[in-house]
Amino acid sequence: MKVPWRTVHSWNCKACGECCIEYKPKLTFYEYLTLPRQFVEERNGRYYIKKIGKRCPFQIGRLCGIQKKKPLSCILFPFSIYTKGEDEAYFEYRGEEYYVYVDTFCKNVRLGKPTPSFIETVKEAIKIFRGENRNFTHLTSKKVQAQIYF
Ligand code: SF4
Ligand code: SF4
Repeated sequence: MKVPWRTVHSWNCKACGECCIEYKPKLTFYEYLTLPRQFVEERNGRYYIKKIGKRCPFQIGRLCGIQKKKPLSCILFPFSIYTKGEDEAYFEYRGEEYYVYVDTFCKNVRLGKPTPSFIETVKEAIKIFRGENRNFTHLTSKKVQAQIYF
């Protein structure tokens, strides 16, 4: 279930890897072109990682093996960012309107009043969504990162 960011107290990634099993990550067209052909697929004009059984082919144990090419949708999880939405999801950044939702599939999402640190995390997600940079300090897990493939 996706909830507006203003209803979330805090979140941090503990690198359990469960979202990599639960979801089929969407790819941008550029990501689709740059990842190995055997591990991507196109369906109805949309692009995805091709899972093997329930597993992402880039997952090593519970960790992601493609840190430098990690897809945007994976970097942003559990956040989803839209240009329309409800008031509780509203976030203004540089004069532009964003509507940010958080997927409660991740068991480390805690509901309540947002902490300052969580607000910074939301801002970081918007910056990455806008393509301002790929340097994330709050998103995904910085504790343990596998880089096996590239
Ligand atoms: S975002 Fe949540 S579900 Fe995904 S790896 Fe991190 S802790 Fe696990
Ligand atoms: S690309 Fe990495 S983060 Fe994305 S689903 Fe696969 S293992 Fe998980």
